[in-house]
Amino acid sequence: MTEQQQWEEVMSILRTVDDPELPSVSVFDLGMVHAVHVSGVDVQITMVPTFAGCPALDIIKNNVKQAVENVPWVERCDVAFSFQALWSTDAITEEGKKQLKKYGVAPPPENYIPGEEWSVDCPYCESAYVTMDNIFGPTACRSILYCRSCKNPFEAMKPVIQYSLS
Ligand SMILES: [Zn+2]
Repeated sequence: MTEQQQWEEVMSILRTVDDPELPSVSVFDLGMVHAVHVSGVDVQITMVPTFAGCPALDIIKNNVKQAVENVPWVERCDVAFSFQALWSTDAITEEGKKQLKKYGVAPPPENYIPGEEWSVDCPYCESAYVTMDNIFGPTACRSILYCRSCKNPFEAMKPVIQYSLS
């Protein structure tokens, strides 16, 4: 197996590790995988935390480590979070957005301009007729909204755009 094949295998594993707070959405599709480095039987993974306030980083780290170390040729997998690399909601893949909707979470708005008001469509019926119910969702990363068309409450991921200074 070439190093390229090993790298691809690790990437495909990362597509199967879900965020503990968003079951069915993988850490890969959330745009959290920053770099994967394979050298022989060692794998080093650098990840970017999605939201500074989310407490699940240790769980994610362990889940990723375990999943990758289950690959037969991997002897050791180190997972580190980089706080230098910046994550934004734009890093979520199309697949990730689809999965979020299935889970009843509206993906963050695209082309969001920091500081401006934002709106999302209902993940169930796509209606734009929604009201912000409570900006403090179950975690700091999510808001609770209410759809006036299908009468469902739903969550939305808050848009986050960060600019690197480098
Ligand atoms: Zn709706």
